Amino acid sequence: MASAAVVGGGFAGLSLALALARSGLKVYLIEEHAEVGYPPHCTGVVSSKVVEMLGRPASSSIAYELREIKVAFNGSIIAYIRPKNPFYRLDRVLLEKLMLEEAEKEGVEVLLGTRAESVSEGGKVSGGGFRGYFDLVVIADGWTRKLTGRLGLGGYRSRLTGVNVIADRLPEGPRPGEVVVEAWSPFSRGFFSWVIGGPDHYLAGTASAKPQDPALYVKSLRSLGVEVKAIYGGQVVLGPPEGPLRRGRVVVAGDAAGLTKPLTGGGLYPMSKAARLAEDILSAGKVAEPYLAVEKALRTVGLELKSHLAAARAIQKSDRIFRAASEVLGGASVTFKIDFDDHSLASIARGLLGNAPSLTRTIIKSPLKTLKLIAHIIIDALF
Ligand SMILES: Cc1cc2nc3c(=O)[nH]c(=O)nc-3n(C[C@H](O)[C@H](O)[C@H](O)COP(=O)(O)OP(=O)(O)OC[C@H]3O[C@@H](n4cnc5c(N)ncnc54)[C@H](O)[C@@H]3O)c2cc1C
Repeated sequence: MASAAVVGGGFAGLSLALALARSGLKVYLIEEHAEVGYPPHCTGVVSSKVVEMLGRPASSSIAYELREIKVAFNGSIIAYIRPKNPFYRLDRVLLEKLMLEEAEKEGVEVLLGTRAESVSEGGKVSGGGFRGYFDLVVIADGWTRKLTGRLGLGGYRSRLTGVNVIADRLPEGPRPGEVVVEAWSPFSRGFFSWVIGGPDHYLAGTASAKPQDPALYVKSLRSLGVEVKAIYGGQVVLGPPEGPLRRGRVVVAGDAAGLTKPLTGGGLYPMSKAARLAEDILSAGKVAEPYLAVEKALRTVGLELKSHLAAARAIQKSDRIFRAASEVLGGASVTFKIDFDDHSLASIARGLLGNAPSLTRTIIKSPLKTLKLIAHIIIDALF
């Protein structure tokens, strides 16, 4: 029986540990913390596709369903995004705990409170009293890349500092099931802030290229009289992968690999998909070595993420596309019906064209401003 060590028991490590065990490998999962899921950092918003791919751990950790995203810029709503299927906010701590339970049921040997200190390309892992040689080593050590960095593995395009705030009451907060996203707010340079309407609370947050912005955001909520119930956050990694995904028998996964959506930093869709693909490839038995099978799965998803890069680059470069869009709309808004996980320019255009009458009206009203907007999109996406 082939053996695998998975270093890092975050979402990426847990996903791959499960996939490898289900494909018949003897798997050891090594996590430095005494329990999984902590410290929490993630908002936990995912599509129904992700819930389907993850199965019971995800369906049992759905906190609530979401239906619509309103995109605001400079205080006005400029777009309504209605994903084709419902999307959800998951209880992320519970999700990782249930994934661990499932992994143990699949026979994964879990070593909590164990820190891997060194990994060699030949498959040797040691640290915290643990030592062994493996046919495959997966390192999913998160954004810090402390181990993967030493091996010259992985890497991502950039990262932002993010924060989530739970509050009971918010002035003009969204209705339950609604998400309001504010592009290029004063606290989200290069990104967006969000407010999610839950059944009995709000979850507000922001991520920014300026590390001080999240603290200023929390301060501004407090100055508005918002009673903050909890604060948590972390580094939001923006994909796609920028460095090698494999050296010898060692592959890198998750945030450390830049396997996150370039536009939103969402890491759960890419890793769920990569784990599913790895399981399929291993089970088909056509790839000789498990490290080649896992690399193939990660590479396939990495290529999909690369096709989202143009839209991400255009939107994150500056706020001029939003400014131009607001001018075209002149106080009105457009509706997109999109696939929650596909952020390619083609998918975004299809989402807009699906609403042809309102799009045509907008273009007829201001053709020159529309041309200016299209020019900005092309220039910012390509250069
Ligand atoms: C503010 C914020 C909001 C987000 N919102 C969303 C969202 O709504 N939807 C979405 O899809 N994604 C979201 N993300 C992204 C998502 O949370 C991450 O992509 C995902 O959690 C990354 O998982 P990971 O396993 O790669 O890394 P991590 O979760 O960082 O896990 C790495 C693990 O490795 C362990 N480790 C590291 N080194 C060692 C070692 N040497 N030995 C043993 N263990 C080690 C660490 O202790 C840790 O448990 C968000 C992220 C942030 C910061």
